[in-house]
Amino acid sequence: MGVVLDGKQHARTVRQGLRERIARIRRQPGFHDWQPGLATILIGEDPASRAYVGTKEKACREVGIAPFGHRLPATASADEVVTLIGRLNARPDVHGILLQLPLPDHLEPAPLIEAIRPDKDVDGLHPVNQGRLVLGQDGLRPCTPLGVMHLIDQSGMAIEGKRAVVVGRSNLVGKPIALLLLQRNATVTTCHSQTANLADHIRQADLVVTAIGQIDAIKGDWIKEGAGVIDVGISRGSNGLLKGDVEFAIAKDRAAYISPVPGGVGPLTVAMLLANTVQTAERQTKVRM
Ligand code: NDP
Repeated sequence: MGVVLDGKQHARTVRQGLRERIARIRRQPGFHDWQPGLATILIGEDPASRAYVGTKEKACREVGIAPFGHRLPATASADEVVTLIGRLNARPDVHGILLQLPLPDHLEPAPLIEAIRPDKDVDGLHPVNQGRLVLGQDGLRPCTPLGVMHLIDQSGMAIEGKRAVVVGRSNLVGKPIALLLLQRNATVTTCHSQTANLADHIRQADLVVTAIGQIDAIKGDWIKEGAGVIDVGISRGSNGLLKGDVEFAIAKDRAAYISPVPGGVGPLTVAMLLANTVQTAERQTKVRM
């Protein structure tokens, strides 16, 4: 039976490391009141988005990051959002800006994301940061893909030379994961809704990362014996419980390691947001460690 990766525990360790890092910086001369700041922008009243933003702001406080919450009505215009982002871009105490997605239907996300200063784009979604990722250059990476890489590294399984299959190709999740795995010298196949014979691809994979959002879409008996499985998908089952994309009970008997849902990638996504915020604060304030 495979090892079930404990995302909550790994996230706790990351958060503890960040708390200590902030404390170390504050001990440096001239930095005693140093504090990273994260501005969150929530537009509208979507209960899931409100809960996500609340979780992120609470996690900020726990590690010593100042959260600056901004709430706009669902009727907010693109101009109002861009004006707010412009103000936050200029504030020296705000080192990261998070625009909670999805947005109300009348707002296009792309121009709003592009209004965020690339060095404050802690979600790694600005075209400059996405371009840097494609080019393999230093830049802010999206949080969920960073969380996936962290979990794989914590599993102890090598990536280099492995056959990796990523299911899902969104700009937020699937595509950046595929690029990060490629950078680490995996041989990467990206699958999506139009992929023929998905099962055949998965059967050959040493590592499967799935980000679809459909319960049990990845059958447990497709998983190669000894493979690693990271399940990013989150869906609510008919019983109200959260479920991933992978048929977990069967897959875990075949996999060397597997991430559960909930308690896998989710907690690390938040931890990586905090890590990105600390990193942007260090760079903007020229901290030397
Ligand atoms: P999207 O809906 O943007 O993308 C889903 C992807 O899955 C698409 O590329 C789509 O293909 C592909 N897909 C859909 N159905 C199938 C199928 N039957 N077989 C193969 N591929 C399929 O979602 P996101 O990328 O934003 O999110 C994916 C999942 O991850 C969701 O469940 C979301 O809730 C979860 N998530 C979890 C996070 C966490 O912290 N754990 C953070 C972010 C997301 P195509 O491109 O052809 O349409």
